[in-house]
Parts: sequence; C-alpha cells; structure tokens
Amino acid sequence: MPCSKFAPAAAAMVALFLAGCAAPGTQRVAVDNAAVKIEERKQMEIVAEELMAEQLRLNTIRWRLATRGKAVCREDVGPLLGLHSMTRAKGPLGDVMAAKFGVTEKPTVVHVVAGSPAELAGVMKGDILKAVNGVPIAEAKSLEEANEKWRPGAPFSIVLERNRLAVTVTAVPEVGCKYPVGLSPEQIINAFADGKRVMIARGMITFARDDNELALVVSHEIAHNSMKHIDAKKQNMGLGFLADLAAVLLTKGQVSNTNFAGLAAAAYSQEFEAEAAYVGLYLMANAGLPIDDAPRFWRRMAAANPQSIKTNHTASHPSTSYRMVALEETVKEIQGKISRGEPLLPNMQEGKPFIPK
Ligand SMILES: [Zn+2]
Repeated sequence: MPCSKFAPAAAAMVALFLAGCAAPGTQRVAVDNAAVKIEERKQMEIVAEELMAEQLRLNTIRWRLATRGKAVCREDVGPLLGLHSMTRAKGPLGDVMAAKFGVTEKPTVVHVVAGSPAELAGVMKGDILKAVNGVPIAEAKSLEEANEKWRPGAPFSIVLERNRLAVTVTAVPEVGCKYPVGLSPEQIINAFADGKRVMIARGMITFARDDNELALVVSHEIAHNSMKHIDAKKQNMGLGFLADLAAVLLTKGQVSNTNFAGLAAAAYSQEFEAEAAYVGLYLMANAGLPIDDAPRFWRRMAAANPQSIKTNHTASHPSTSYRMVALEETVKEIQGKISRGEPLLPNMQEGKPFIPK
C-alpha cells in the first residue's frame, strides 16, 4: 500500500503503517557493542561530573548563608565544619562516582569548603570519616547527640582514614544554620524545605543565572525552615514535606517520581510564602550578598510560568504583583537599616522578639 493513501484502519494498524513509512532510507551505521558500552560510561561520567559540580556550588552558597546569616536561623544553629561527604551508591552512577571521585562505601570527603574549619584543620578530599569526638561516624544518632552537646568554641577531634592510615585532626567548628542543602536530581525548576533540610532541584540550578540568584532560592527555603512553616503546616496537613515553587512544574506538564502534583496542593499558605520572601532577603543581606536584583529574579520565575495564576497551587501564593511590590519594599527597608548601621533582623509584630527567648 503506498504511503499517500490513508486506509481507515484500526488505530494500531495506522500506527504500524505510519511507522513503516517513517523508516530511514539509508544504511544503518555498523556499531560495535563494546564501543556503545564505552559511550554509555562516558555519558555517565558527564552526569557524575555535573552532579558533583552542582552539589559543590550549593555547598559553597550554603556555607556563606549558614555562617554569616546565622542570626536569621534563630535557635536552629549548630556546629559546622565545612566538609561534604558521600557514601557509594549502588548502580552505574555509584560506580562512576567511585572511579572519578574516590567515593567508598564509608563516608568519603568529596568537598572541603575554602576557608572552612575543615580546610584549616587539614581535612582533604578522599579522606574517610571514621569518628568525631570519639563517636563512630556510623552511629549517626550518637553523632547528633555529640552535636547537641557541643558548645561554641569547643574543638572537634576528627579521626580520618587517609591512604589506609588513621589521621586525627582538630577543628573548631563555626556556628551556623543547621539545615543541609542537598541536590534533587529532577530537571525541574523547583526547591523544597522540610523543616530540617533544603533540597534544590537540578532544573533550578540551571534556571539561576549565577550564584547570587541561586542564593536567593536557598535563602527563601532556609527562611521557610527557620520560621517553622513546615511544623505549623504539618500540624494542619499531616505532611512531613512540602514542595515549594512547584507551579512551574505543573504548568509545564512534566512528571517526576516525587509526585510533586500531589504535594503542590499542600503548598505554603500566602502568609508563610510572604514571610519566606521577607525573611529570605534578610538572610541574603546578613550574608553580605546583593539583594537589589531579587525582584527581577522572582519576576523571571513568574514569567517562566505565566499560566500559574490560574492553578490552585498559585492561588495559595500571594499574587505576583503583590509579591514584587512587597519585595521592593523589603529591599528598601533592609538598605535603610544598612545605611543607618542597624542590626539586620526582620521586623516582628509588636512585642515579639525575632530570636525567641
Ligand atoms: Zn516558598
């Protein structure tokens, strides 16, 4: 049957017929299976390199916000060393991470933040973390207890394994916001906070044009945590995790394995969203990062998602125009405090201290 004649056949038949017509006419290039395997590995290496570079970028941004902006995290502060460790994951990506970055089944240091206590103490990439203050790293609960007991100024004794030898170093941690900032593998423009940590989706890292824009997103999520939005929301919704900024995903019709669509219905209330925008800018300012461009960045986020105005998720957010005017007013408020040399703490409702007693 010639391709130009359309037969009124069943849908499956039509599909087969069209597929037949669309077949390439040239010879297929002969490919060696071993070469295909090597190519797979090369592509996996690129994924590993990009994931690692993005996580290291987040670590550096988080370090600056967490240490210099710690006042904004109120009582949610703890000892920070400025190192990032990973354990080897199962599967091909884990194999590549092991080969390229020396990641082992035990917590392996993959990044030491420049100027951090870990760097000053001589911790190096490839070191395996064995114990902190006599508590084996494997006992995560005990380590958390050790962190709770820590008082500012007290040193951490860290036992490392380096080239199969035990090395002990001493570092005096800095005080900073406790929440780790992780990378979520989805290529979507989104970010999340669960009260204890912050997750940034890979798509957001691509969307942010520079580290200052990415810091705006990280500080917004930290603000959701420090202002206890998830705790209050959890009580209302019975949830432990909230997707933030998820409208972009929904209107683009993308699907991911984290079921964001369901989570987006449980988005922050307008009041919490406005507060995260307000407190997040104070965090930026405390960290010495520029805030002038914040309205432009959030406008760009809104423009990436023009249909979102009609979604239920966005209906729970303050309208874009309200948010932009509020942001511009916040920038003016903070710049006024900077010029008068006043403390950079958010204004609370009358009679309430920003840092709870
Ligand atoms: Zn938010």
